[in-house]
Parts: sequence; structure tokens; C-alpha cells
Amino acid sequence: MSHILVLGAGPAGLAAARSARRRGATVTLVDSSEQLGGQFWRHLPDARPAANERILHHGWDTFRALQSELAADDGCRILTSASVFAIDSSDRAAGRVHIVVGPSDGSGRERLELFPDAIILATGAHDRTLPFPGWDLPGVFTGGAAQALAKGERLAVGRRVVVAGAGPFLLPVAASLAATGSRVLGVFESSRLPSLARGWLPRPWQLLPAARKGAELAGYIGGQLRHRIPYTTGASVIAAHGTDSVESVTVASLDANWAPVRGTERTIAVDAVCVSHGFTPRLELAIAAGCRITDERFVAVDDAQATSVPGVYAAGEITGIGGVDLALAEGALAGHTAAGGRPSDLPGEVRKRRVYAGFARRIEAAHGIRPGWPEMVTEETIVCRCEEVSFGSLCRTAESTGSTSLRSLKLSTRAGLGICQGRACGRSLEQLIARRLPGNSLGDAVSTDRRPLAVPLRLGELAAAASSFDPTPATDPSKGPQS
Ligand SMILES: Cc1cc2nc3c(=O)[nH]c(=O)nc-3n(C[C@H](O)[C@H](O)[C@H](O)COP(=O)(O)OP(=O)(O)OC[C@H]3O[C@@H](n4cnc5c(N)ncnc54)[C@H](O)[C@@H]3O)c2cc1C
Repeated sequence: MSHILVLGAGPAGLAAARSARRRGATVTLVDSSEQLGGQFWRHLPDARPAANERILHHGWDTFRALQSELAADDGCRILTSASVFAIDSSDRAAGRVHIVVGPSDGSGRERLELFPDAIILATGAHDRTLPFPGWDLPGVFTGGAAQALAKGERLAVGRRVVVAGAGPFLLPVAASLAATGSRVLGVFESSRLPSLARGWLPRPWQLLPAARKGAELAGYIGGQLRHRIPYTTGASVIAAHGTDSVESVTVASLDANWAPVRGTERTIAVDAVCVSHGFTPRLELAIAAGCRITDERFVAVDDAQATSVPGVYAAGEITGIGGVDLALAEGALAGHTAAGGRPSDLPGEVRKRRVYAGFARRIEAAHGIRPGWPEMVTEETIVCRCEEVSFGSLCRTAESTGSTSLRSLKLSTRAGLGICQGRACGRSLEQLIARRLPGNSLGDAVSTDRRPLAVPLRLGELAAAASSFDPTPATDPSKGPQS
């Protein structure tokens, strides 16, 4: 019986684990969080459950069904608070996977090594925020952080809040803020109406099979109206102001390329602002495993969700940003094919994948990042928050060294080398530097997605001997799945 290791327990990983179990594979499901559910189903811990968790989540019953099926299944080992920090090749297996288990802020984490027959990568994405003056002030949150605090802790990030950026994600962020007691003064979508129309209006019949998404959207729009939250297109927060924390923001109209339009600025008094410009896939483990990455910078997969590396599969946001339904369909297919099945055995999932992949293309066409955003950035704007590197110092270093390579600019300014290792700023740094160079391209092939260690690790943990992990189920795994 094959042993399949599923990395990430969000919608894609959960669906992959269930599907692999239903075909009889032994499964180990690993996630760095304390709980299953990933970003979409982030929730209060079981030790302090909410009275009605369901109201903050779409598809909560789907999550509960996945969670209870896997938890009751002896053929599925679940490791939470378990961070995968590296994958390297192994002639014994699809790869040698290195994991530390235990709370990331505690000491004495146990180090494990796994040699699975197949690996399913389902590591999701980070939310992306473009830099603007004042984005490093306390009180400026990413949309994802605000969501995590609302869903995971029931904390509102402020009393008077503005939501800005791009994409459908701004709507659930505003909804969660309103549900946790914030007054949302406005949602500002950077894309203008013609872009939105170009993304969402063509071939509307193709949206019909995704009617559930329409219902979700209608729910958010209803909430916006109920809470009287204005929604403005072609506008964004272009600066945040304050002494110790944010006190106000400047909002301005943007042109079709997202450059601010002079003379349209206005100031809004706030005590928090949530900004999100879409998502960046978490590619470090896929790169470590040797998977081919597409020009759009997602993991390349075929119809079976197989990557370019034999035995390694991928599903969810790392293959394209398409939302929870695409992640579930891809996960189900990846689990099934990794366990020896064919995609054609699951025609319903193949159809859902096609429908929701179309959704992903619409999101990119309507809300994808436009090239004029650097016009928001001034000399003083901090571009790397961890290392406090300003745009001015980045430009001065590039000029004085004549450097065109990302690697040398990172080393000489330390931009992208701080605690987040470029997760927050990496893609923006690449674009800011490339924009100043002939052909808009960097002088080296370095990508900020490449990180030898996927998570922060103590030297002692790296040096410690690893225990090997026995995936054998406690009882007969054939009794596990209750399909
Ligand atoms: C911060 C954030 C908040 C979001 N909130 C919403 C929302 O409210 N509504 C909405 O419609 N969409 C939301 N999205 C988008 C939504 O998360 C996705 O559509 C969907 O969850 C994708 O599922 P996934 O399984 O691909 O990834 P995820 O749900 O992101 O799951 C990936 C899992 O992999 C784990 N992981 C990653 N790296 C490692 C590692 N090295 N070791 C161990 N585990 C690892 C993570 O802990 C995570 O649990 C959010 C996205 C983000 C980034």
C-alpha cells in the first residue's frame, strides 16, 4: 500500500487526503497550524469553540465533513503544528521531507524525516500588499491578517476601518470586520469599471455552473448594503498617516494602470486600514522538490495534478489563484491520481476544476496587478519592512553599484533578507528594481520565491538528529474511509 504525504491542510490538502484514502492509500496530512482548515476555514480552537462558527464561513459543513472523516480514519495520520522546512531528493521515495513538530514559539520541537511514495503539495498562498507611503505604520494590516484575527480570534483590527486593494477578497474582509464590530468606512477596489467588465462580463453563461459563487457574492453585497459600506472602483489608499499608529489615510482615484490621478486625493480619519492586492503562491517547497514553475509563477501541473517531478503532485492556490472550490476540486483529483486513479474516474471534479479555473482567469483579468502601481511609491517609502529599506536607498545603491541583479541588490541593501524572507515584499521588490532596467527585466534569474529553508528554524533544530516517521496506521487502514 502506498504512503502519500499531503503538505497543507487547507481545502486542497483536506480534499486530497480524503480522496487518497478513499482509494486505499495510507495518508499523512501535515500542517503548520494548530488546526485543520487552512486560510479559508480558519476558526477558533476546539478548546474555546464559538457559539456559532458557521456564520463566519462559507462551506462550513463541507469542512466539518472532511475533518470528521479524516479524524475518524485510522489510515490517516494527522500532524498539526508540524512545519515542513525542506524537501530533498531521495532514491527511496518521491523525496525526503524534513519536518519540525511543535509550537513554533516553543522550544524542543521534534525533527522528523519522511520518505513517502508520493507527495501532494497544497501549501496555499500569502496575501500580497503593494507598498505605499505609511504602509509600515502600526494599524495597517493585510486583508489576510485582518481575516485571521477576525476568524481565528474574533478580534476587530480597529473601530473605523478602510479596506483597499484589489479582488473579490476585499468583500469577505469587509464582511468579517463588520461582523466583529468595526465600522467599515469604505471598500476601495483599484481596478476601474472597464477592467472589471473585461474580466467578469464576457461569456456570462460560463458563470452559470458556478452559481454557488454567485450566491456567496450576493451574500457579501447584501452585507455591504446592510452595513451601509460604500464600494468605490478605480480608487485606493495611496498613503497612511500617523505618529505611533495610523490616524488617517489618503484615498485617490487610480488610472487604468493603477497610477494615482493627481488632484483626486481625499483624507479619511481611521484607526486601521486593511490592504490586499491578491495572493502570492507559497512556492518554496515546490521549488525545493524541483517542480517546474510556469511563467506566471505557479506550479505547473497536468490533468492528473502531477508536477514535472515523478511522484510529486500539487493542488490549490499554488497552481493558480482560484478560490476554495477550485482548491477542493484539484485536491480531490490530486489525491485520487497520486493513489493510482485516473482523472476520468472523477468526472464531477474534472468539471468543477474546469468551471472554477475559468473563474481564476476572470479574477486575474479583472483585478490583476497593473504596472502603474509604483507611482504610489516615494523616495522615503519603506519597501522592505523587516529590514526598513526605503525605495530611495534601493535606487541609490543600484546607481552607485551599477547593479542590475536582484541577488547583489538584496545583499547590498538587505531588502528581502529579514524575518519574512521576502514573503511580504519580494515580488514588489523584483518589480520596482526591474522597472528601472532596460527591457524591464532583472539582470539575473534569481526569484524571491526560492528559499532553502521554507520556515524559520533554530540552529539547534537544524543540527538535531531526525527521527524517522512510521506512517503505518494503528489498525487496518481498509476500515478507515467512510465514503
Ligand atoms: C491570509 C488569507 C486569508 C484568506 N481568507 C479568505 C476568506 O476569508 N475568504 C475567501 O474566500 N478566501 C480567502 N482566502 C483565499 C483562500 O484561502 C483560498 O481560496 C483557499 O483557502 C485555498 O486553499 P488551499 O488549500 O490552496 O490553501 P490554504 O487554505 O492556504 O492552505 C494551505 C495550508 O498549507 C499550510 N502550509 C503552508 N506551508 C507549510 C509548510 N511549510 N509546512 C506545513 N504547512 C504548511 C498552511 O498552514 C495552510 O493551512 C484567504 C487567503 C489568505 C492567504
